[in-house]
Amino acid sequence: MIDTELQVSPSISTHRWDRVRQALLFSSQQLSNCHLCERHCGVDRWGGQLGFCGVGAQSRYYSALVNYGEEPFLSPSYCIYFTGCEMRCIFCSAHEWVVRPGSGEMADIETLAAGLNPSARTVSFIGGNPSVNLHDILRFIDLARPAIPLCWNSNFYETPGTLEHLFGIIDVFQADYKFGNDACAESLAKTPHYCEIVERNLLLVRDQGRLVIRHLLMPGHLDCCLLPISRWVRANCPDAVFFLMTGYIPWGVVTRLRPTSPMCGRVSSDEISRAEEICDRQGLKWLKAG
Ligand code: SF4
Repeated sequence: MIDTELQVSPSISTHRWDRVRQALLFSSQQLSNCHLCERHCGVDRWGGQLGFCGVGAQSRYYSALVNYGEEPFLSPSYCIYFTGCEMRCIFCSAHEWVVRPGSGEMADIETLAAGLNPSARTVSFIGGNPSVNLHDILRFIDLARPAIPLCWNSNFYETPGTLEHLFGIIDVFQADYKFGNDACAESLAKTPHYCEIVERNLLLVRDQGRLVIRHLLMPGHLDCCLLPISRWVRANCPDAVFFLMTGYIPWGVVTRLRPTSPMCGRVSSDEISRAEEICDRQGLKWLKAG
C-alpha cells in the first residue's frame, strides 16, 4: 500500500482559462454532432436529438455535496453527480439516474458554483459519467474558477478528442478500469471494445497530472478481471495510484434480472485477501477502500 497523504496541486494559471475557452468551443460544436464518447451517436443535441446517454443540451444532476468518501488524498471533495452515462453496468448504484437522465435537477451553473463549500479540498465531476456532460462542467469551471484541484471521475469511455481538451484543466484523472476482458464488459455493461478503449485512454492521460485507476472488486471476477488489469497497470502505468474498492453492493437491476448470478452476492473476505495479494505481487502503488 502507499502513503495516503499524496500531494495534489491545482494548475491555476492564465493557461487554464485559455484551455477552458478552447474546450467550451469544442464541446459546443460536439453538441451539434455528438462524438464526445465512443458511442459516436452523431446526434444534434442542441436540436433536441438524444443519443445513447439520453442527455440533451442541458445537463442535469442528482446530488452536489462535500463528500468525505473519495480517495483519502482528495477528500473532502465537492462532488457533483451528473445524470446520464454511456455504459450500462447492471450493478450501477446510480442506475435510475443513468437510464432516466431527464429526472435529475437542471444543472443551474450559478447554483452549483454557490455550493462550492470552503471545506472542500478538491472538486470532483462524477456521474453517471462526466464526459456526456462536458459542456456544463466547463461552464461551471469557467464561472466558479475553483482554486483547488479538479478531478475527472470517469468510466474512461471518452473519445481522445474529449480527453485531450481536458489537459491543462483537470488535475486528477480518476479512471475506472472495471472489466479485464471484453466478454465481461459486454455481459455486465453492454459496452463494446471496452479494454482497447480504456487502455488507449489511460495511455493518453498517464503523463497529464495525477492518474488514479479505480477497480471495483466484483464477486467471482478476480481471475478474469482484477488479474489482467493489475498486470496491465503494472506494465503500462506503474506510477498510477491503483484504488481497489472492496465494498461491492449488488445495486441496480442485477438482483431483478439475474437473481441466481454470483453478481447478486458480496465479495468474500477470502477474495479481498487474494486481491490484496495480487496488488502486492504486481508491485502496484495501491490503496483500498471498503
Ligand atoms: S455523449 Fe451521449 S450522445 Fe454523445 S456520443 Fe456519447 S452517448 Fe452518444
